[in-house]
Amino acid sequence: MANQKIIIAIDGYSSCGKSTLAKAMAKNLEYVFIDTGAMYRAVALFFLRAGIDFDNTLDIAAALNKITLQFKYNPATLQSDMYLNEENVEQEIREMRVSQKVSEVAAIALVRDFAVAQQQAMGESKGIVMDGRDIGTVVFPEAELKIFVTASPEIRVQRRFLELSAKNAAITVEEISENLQHRDLIDTTREHSPLKQADDALVLDNSNMSREAQLDIALQWAQERINQANNQ
Ligand code: C5P
Repeated sequence: MANQKIIIAIDGYSSCGKSTLAKAMAKNLEYVFIDTGAMYRAVALFFLRAGIDFDNTLDIAAALNKITLQFKYNPATLQSDMYLNEENVEQEIREMRVSQKVSEVAAIALVRDFAVAQQQAMGESKGIVMDGRDIGTVVFPEAELKIFVTASPEIRVQRRFLELSAKNAAITVEEISENLQHRDLIDTTREHSPLKQADDALVLDNSNMSREAQLDIALQWAQERINQANNQ
């Protein structure tokens, strides 16, 4: 069938440039970009505001029942913002308060079930680029293209620092480094859907690569897979 769309799954460690790549690919291919980290961040924000005990399964289940997550297009930034129960939380979910707790919240099985079900529904008609930690392994194990993005720890810290210090002058390199290590450790060692490279993922190490060079490679891979899907 001509113009068959595919699912593109992008996974990797915190701050390795996954979202930048995913957004650029989606724009280029006219696909929908879905930042699954934003969903976990919004759930973590709700839990923090409500003072939820992360060990209390009943409270967690009740809290999840009260949460509606939506991505809404923002014409000012030309990007989608995360909405938590109709409130735009795009800025707040990026704050350190949320970054410090999000991986603990994302390790909870009920939270993962809640988020994964919505992510799978978003991919039903394909034509998506989804970035996260378990997209190629759990959310879409049948994705036509899986990319595992890596970058050296120093470069990841440096990039994150430049991004966050532009918004928050008080942030230090040490705080960022600690937060990335903390999240990577929880994300890779958790019991449910730990971050790991899917066997059939293509690895993209962008440590010494420009954004444009990274995008070129990924788009070539995407085009190959789209052609394959159309020839089937
Ligand atoms: O992508 P981002 O860094 O914003 O994700 C925030 C956190 O959400 C990650 O550190 C991870 O703990 C969690 N996450 C996850 N699974 C995903 C996406 C994000 O566990 N698919």
